Amino acid sequence: MKILSKSFGAYATNCYILIKDCGEIIIDPGDGALEFVRQNCKNLLAILNTHCHFDHIYDDKKIKDEYNLPIYVPKDDAFLCSKDPFGMIEEPFNPDFLVEPDGSLQIADFTLKFHHFAGHTPGCSMIETNGVMFSGDFLFKGSIGRYDFPFSSKIEMKNSLKKALNLGEFVLYPGHGEKTSMSEAREFISYFIERL
Ligand SMILES: [Zn+2]
Repeated sequence: MKILSKSFGAYATNCYILIKDCGEIIIDPGDGALEFVRQNCKNLLAILNTHCHFDHIYDDKKIKDEYNLPIYVPKDDAFLCSKDPFGMIEEPFNPDFLVEPDGSLQIADFTLKFHHFAGHTPGCSMIETNGVMFSGDFLFKGSIGRYDFPFSSKIEMKNSLKKALNLGEFVLYPGHGEKTSMSEAREFISYFIERL
C-alpha cells in the first residue's frame, strides 16, 4: 500500500490517499482536497473520516458529488456532518455508512478497522489498515487531541488513553503534524493519564 499525504486549510489538516492496485481510499479530505484527488486517484473507492470535525470532512461532499462515492464515518460522530458546532461547513450532508465503534470494513482489497477512542469527539477513531494507523485527532507526535471542544469529554479521553496502552506497535499517521509511532506515543499517554 502506498500512502500520499498533504495538509489542507487554516489548521493544516492532514489528508491521506491510500493506494493499492484495486484503487484508492481517501481519509479526512480537508478544504481543497478535491484537487489532490483529481491529481492522484484513478479509481477512488470511498471517503473515510477518523472523526467529523469540519476541518477533516470539509471536502467530503464535493468529492462525493464529483465521484459518486460512499462516505464512511464513525457512527457516534455522524451528527456533526449535519450540525457543525463551529458553523464552518458550507453544505451539511448525511454520511452513507455509519461505522460502529471498533467496527471493521472491507472495501475492495482494503481491510480496515475503526478503533474507537472517544474524547476529542464522541466517535473519534483511529483507522487501522495494512499495519498502520490513521490516528486523526486522538494521538499526535508528542501530544493528544483537545478534549475541551463542544461534544468533547475529558473522562472519555482518559478512558481512551488507557485503552490505547493495549495497542500493539503501529506507525501513526495523525490528523495534524508529522507521523509518529505507538512506542513514542506510549510515553506521553501515561503522562496524560496521570494528569487528566
Ligand atoms: Zn478534530
